[in-house]
Amino acid sequence: MDAKNYPRMEEEILKYWDRNRIFEKSLKNREGCKKFVFLEGPPTANGLPHPGHVLTRTMKDVVLRYKTMKGFYVARKAGWDTHGLPVEIEVEKMLGLRNKQEIEEYGIERFNEECKKSVFRYEEAWKEMTRRVGFWINMDNPYITLENDYIESVWWSLKEAWKKGLLFRGYKVTPYCPRCGTTLSSHEVAQGYKEVEDPSIFVKFKIKGKDEYFLAWTTTPWTLISNVALAVHPEEWYIKIEYEGEKLILAEERAAVLLKGKEYNEIDRYKGSELEGIEYEPLYKFVEPEKKCWFVILADFVTMDEGTGIVHIAPAFGEEDYEAGRKYDLPVIQLVDLEGKFKEEVKPWAGKFVKDADREIIEDLKNRGLLVSEHKYRHQYPFCWRCDSPLLYYAIESWFIGMSRLREHLVKNNEKINWYPEYIKHGRFGEFIREARDWALSRKRYWGTPLPVWVCQKCGKEICIGGIEELRQKATNFPEKLDLHRPYVDKILLKCEECGGEMKRVEEVIDAWYDSGSAPFAQWHYPFENEKVFKENFPADFICEAIDQTRGWFYSLLAISTLLFDEAPYKNVLTLGLILDEKGQKMSKKARNYVEPAEIFQKYGADALRWYLISASPPWQPKRFYEKVVKDVLSKFLLTLWNVFSFYETY
Ligand SMILES: [Zn+2]
Ligand SMILES: [Zn+2]
Repeated sequence: MDAKNYPRMEEEILKYWDRNRIFEKSLKNREGCKKFVFLEGPPTANGLPHPGHVLTRTMKDVVLRYKTMKGFYVARKAGWDTHGLPVEIEVEKMLGLRNKQEIEEYGIERFNEECKKSVFRYEEAWKEMTRRVGFWINMDNPYITLENDYIESVWWSLKEAWKKGLLFRGYKVTPYCPRCGTTLSSHEVAQGYKEVEDPSIFVKFKIKGKDEYFLAWTTTPWTLISNVALAVHPEEWYIKIEYEGEKLILAEERAAVLLKGKEYNEIDRYKGSELEGIEYEPLYKFVEPEKKCWFVILADFVTMDEGTGIVHIAPAFGEEDYEAGRKYDLPVIQLVDLEGKFKEEVKPWAGKFVKDADREIIEDLKNRGLLVSEHKYRHQYPFCWRCDSPLLYYAIESWFIGMSRLREHLVKNNEKINWYPEYIKHGRFGEFIREARDWALSRKRYWGTPLPVWVCQKCGKEICIGGIEELRQKATNFPEKLDLHRPYVDKILLKCEECGGEMKRVEEVIDAWYDSGSAPFAQWHYPFENEKVFKENFPADFICEAIDQTRGWFYSLLAISTLLFDEAPYKNVLTLGLILDEKGQKMSKKARNYVEPAEIFQKYGADALRWYLISASPPWQPKRFYEKVVKDVLSKFLLTLWNVFSFYETY
């Protein structure tokens, strides 16, 4: 037995398993035994599996085999996650489409057809990897998130939310990707922070009728175009100083930091609350605001940690700004279009991507003598986790699931879950759910579960449809062959119960994280079928995915189960550390910094790889992975073990 034969021996064993249906037998033998319920996190087969996927499949298999050997009945249903922006983006690239307009010119029907094809493109490669790594799971009868049955269950759950008043339309400042043309949920945003360098500028705002200025600070000069107020902290002290021949107002505490070692005279001193209502001259006035603005407001979120203690407020572009704006009834000056470019009204920079206009805005302020100083500022800024564009914070109409109202329930249900490692429970995950935001659910996109809300074109009444039968009853043109996707579903019209008018579906589809988070019930087409099966399999005993799912699938599962059943959907969750390359860099498709799993299997076998992955470090710690470590396992461990065994057998 030499190293070359090891992989071949594995192939023989795999064939033996297939021929004799060993996996099926292992289940059959345990029918009626106590169940150990596993819920598979569905991958998307629009890309080839990489070493990270091999790790997840290995760990799942180790636990499930162990439980099987302990006598449990461990059914294993595979699943495919098939909707969402990542899929659309791959197809856009393939077809050379650059934006939503080009998709619509190409045709939603054809576009979605391509999306559907793409999510099974690598199904065979996934099946082969799964077989080769020795993960026993039933891939012949998987749940698939694009099937009508699955979507119908998701619709049912949305209607439940609707009935509870937890699915609603709102205006909210939402992280928005100007390239993808869609909002992102907070757990998506959490995945895309990067350190960047932005301009950091100190700007003067002239007080009306006086030769005095408020000094404010910003790292997003482009938002100054939409400024409507300046905020100060009501309890902090502010001073008026004379500095380089000018009278400036800023927080006392910040002056001490910013002007340390510089010469300035303090002229006057005020409590922040005394400044409320003082009017100033706008930096820019491209439109006539419909409400009173450009005065000082009070806000508790103003900190003395950075800046001048005076915060520039643009309700169109910041969550806190928006809330403050509502309190003071300030106008929302939205001069940026949905592609992140300045609108026509902003004459000097019309059509320019806002962040690209920063430089020219700074120059303009400088020329007008309003710029006090300019620096560089390194900070964490969110980028689109799929397309890498910088996100903008944007007041946009969207549909939400009211998760913020369920915070206490999320926390309570999380207490029922065993986390491995334990510290995630109250750390990374616990902190996240304690602060849970409303879930920005809708996407103005194409390939996803359509939001089942229809609106009367005449009287504006809105209804949520919770299943196919309900749709059939209310539709005036229910199709013979039903496909719940766009554009087909958009053609189905309903009759308004209030006024007899025509009802059309809203154009949105939903966040694909909601699809996969619905797996506990939607995989069984519950509640339309399989009520007993669902109840026997909920909650799951065990789920296992990479740590980056903490704010992804681990969260969406808990969120939806809390919303529907007020229960934790899983009892035990094993989180896996990332797989790194030889130098400790994160593996990525882009960098191509890994060996294809198939190559490793062929050279050293699956056992060598599996043994390395489970023995190198605790599962939740990051692991470096490269060819040599697997090779070492084979030569130093597996072959030694094999030799001991053959010695024992021979003598
Ligand atoms: Zn994007
Ligand atoms: Zn109506």
